[in-house]
Amino acid sequence: MKLNKEWHLEHKMPKKPSVEQQISWHLEHQKYCQCAPIPKKLLEEIKKRNLEI
Ligand SMILES: [Zn+2]
Repeated sequence: MKLNKEWHLEHKMPKKPSVEQQISWHLEHQKYCQCAPIPKKLLEEIKKRNLEI
């Protein structure tokens, strides 16, 4: 697991993120950092929206 500290500093998760905000954060996140996988619940939401992972 590699943490991309710079990316995290530039991309803070909002304090009370909507599902959409969480999805877009995680989709960007996985491109640049592998510190945490996308939570299962969020994966389901992504699937519901037919989004590419
Ligand atoms: Zn990360």
